[in-house]
Amino acid sequence: MSAPATEKPARRQTLKSARLARAHWLYSIDDVIALYLVSRQTVRNWMRCGLKAIEAEKTLFLGQDLNAFHARRRREAKVPCSFEEIYCVCCKQKHSLLIEPFTIEQRGKFRTLVSMQCPETGGRATKFVGESDLHRLRDLQKRNRSAETPD
Ligand SMILES: [Zn+2]
Repeated sequence: MSAPATEKPARRQTLKSARLARAHWLYSIDDVIALYLVSRQTVRNWMRCGLKAIEAEKTLFLGQDLNAFHARRRREAKVPCSFEEIYCVCCKQKHSLLIEPFTIEQRGKFRTLVSMQCPETGGRATKFVGESDLHRLRDLQKRNRSAETPD
């Protein structure tokens, strides 16, 4: 019998944001989507996270601003998370629990899992927290909720 059909070797997942834009080119939102293979929502998130945009008839991005934005985010991702941040394996960024809704789940007697939906990929970002952070996070969660539903 012949050897089983070999599957295509899995291509190594590269970080999409590591792609370089041309410094002096202008990119429309559609160009940015095509360059990084991300959704429109992701580009909006990036703008919310400080990606500089040129507001012309349509939104434009300068290549060097795109590069600087992603370089900064990669640098920031290397700094350890503070209690209100969560490192996301989906998009290799930190997400702020001050901004994104999150859930708290007891896992066994001594472990508590905090999780949230990655706003860029829709995946799950999780981390285990200790007692002291847990109290601060519960306070934060309460505050977020009351901000959402004023009554
Ligand atoms: Zn993420």
